Amino acid sequence: MIVKKRFQNTIKREAVFNGVGLHSGQQINIRLKPAEPNSGIIFKRVDLKDKPEIKASIGNVISTDRSTSVGNKKIKVQTIEHLMAALMTYQIDNIVIEINGDEIPAADGSAKPFNDLLAKTKIIKQGDKTEIFTVDQVISYQSKDKYLFILPSNQLKLSYLLDYDHPMIGVQYLSYQFEKNSFIKNILPARTFGFEEEIKNLKSQGLALGGSLDNAVLIKDDSIVNELRFKDEFVRHKILDLIGDLYLIGSIRAEILAVKTGHHDNYNINRLIKKNIG
Ligand SMILES: [Zn+2]
Repeated sequence: MIVKKRFQNTIKREAVFNGVGLHSGQQINIRLKPAEPNSGIIFKRVDLKDKPEIKASIGNVISTDRSTSVGNKKIKVQTIEHLMAALMTYQIDNIVIEINGDEIPAADGSAKPFNDLLAKTKIIKQGDKTEIFTVDQVISYQSKDKYLFILPSNQLKLSYLLDYDHPMIGVQYLSYQFEKNSFIKNILPARTFGFEEEIKNLKSQGLALGGSLDNAVLIKDDSIVNELRFKDEFVRHKILDLIGDLYLIGSIRAEILAVKTGHHDNYNINRLIKKNIG
């Protein structure tokens, strides 16, 4: 069910960002460019022959293992969720993201650098409108001990319960009503996190090669190596991931309750929401 419409947005000025890819460890350059109304969020691999493009949409998701990636036979772009969260915050509908590798830079592990980048571009309204989706019934999802509920609401509200059997994390809960400036201040700077043992394993498999204390919070058995930006930074980052993943279906207004979910669950709930809104 569609409740409302709003004008579409794009950026006015181009902006460039360089950084290392978390999994690939490669130095990657992205360039944000304005796009025509109704074109969507487009990734363009400028390092490949014919510069293939792919739209950020739920139908183009090819992997949700540790991060969300879109692609097809010709093109792959990994770890799009933090940039997507920043795009959602500014309600950017149309943009071309030129990229010279297969992974969005890890930046500082949060969406704050992408926010800072977008703040420089100047957001402009376009002539056409887009739909803001809502649900007319409760949508629920469960996979083992992970749950997601999407409830009808006139506001976008996100609640997340994180429960790690680890003395440095434990249980964290946060309920947050979306508001742009507050989101920029309180959610976008929350960084991704990883456990020392797990990171050793990932690196031995050729993953997380670009991971460092500059782009992730490192958790040891009895300590957190980096200084935290928020006492509950972990649950804030989970909300950031959730909102970034949900933007693959566009603007939504609903109350969302999530328990222990990750990118794969976010993908599944997106599919259920899509079915509900038709
Ligand atoms: Zn994340």
